[in-house]
Amino acid sequence: MLTFNQRTALVTGAGRGIGKAIAETLAKHGVTVICVSKSAESCGAVAAAITAAGGKAKALAVDVADGPAVAKAAEQLLAEFPTIDILVNNAGITRDGLLFRMSEDDWNSVLQTNLTSCFHWTKHLARPMTRARWGRIINIASVSGIMGNAGQANYSAAKAGMIGLTKTLAREFASRSVTANVVAPGFIKTDMTTEFVNNPEVSAKILEAVPLKRFGEAADIANMTAYLCSEEAGYITGQVFTVDGGMAM
Ligand code: NAP
Repeated sequence: MLTFNQRTALVTGAGRGIGKAIAETLAKHGVTVICVSKSAESCGAVAAAITAAGGKAKALAVDVADGPAVAKAAEQLLAEFPTIDILVNNAGITRDGLLFRMSEDDWNSVLQTNLTSCFHWTKHLARPMTRARWGRIINIASVSGIMGNAGQANYSAAKAGMIGLTKTLAREFASRSVTANVVAPGFIKTDMTTEFVNNPEVSAKILEAVPLKRFGEAADIANMTAYLCSEEAGYITGQVFTVDGGMAM
């Protein structure tokens, strides 16, 4: 059993897939969870399900790629919640294509949504954590940011950028007992990967590179993330944890 001491967490991309699993797992540990997604419907449904199950949650629809919108949302949240102790930057998109065919729009939207969003949320939420002398920042990157992946120049660059950002945050905030770590998933069954997982030829090819010979579940990522958010993980910072069935070892 992990220890959480009535913490409050903000999880981006909590409307579906990995973010939803992280929000639900933290809520089961008694954490109050602010569920952020782009559409009000998805974060609303997740927050409602958590509340119905006896947990504490709030839904917040905000486009994480929109810096001023994130600033406004953060200001309102900090007025409502005495502390936001845990930040999980999980919202992400793909706009895949080989480099020669990749548009600047596809480059910019992936960098803005996956990487710049982490800069904005951290800038607004980490200061109160440093004042409180306790905090957890978890950035959900990808094995693509470690190994690279043909067709994902934008996504790999954003995910590698999250790793550099996290290591810097770990160094900047360590003296205040605020830790920052990365979880780097491999192939996990969510809406993002449905088209690969449901294609027998493509999925067989992918699984050739996965020693454990199966796709991961959102819960596999949520369990690692919950551990890194707990009291027990207080001496771990600046690290990258791949949860990928052994693919990137
Ligand atoms: P998903 O099923 O596509 O869900 C993405 C979530 O992010 C949704 O809730 C979506 O909101 C939210 N989101 C996207 N753009 C947003 C924006 N601009 N503002 C606010 N919210 C936004 O994705 P997933 O597979 O769970 O992936 C979660 C994270 O894990 C991503 O960062 C992804 O890169 C990373 N990852 C996934 C895999 C994998 O195999 N699935 C592997 C490696 C890394 P709505 O619900 O409103 O659309």
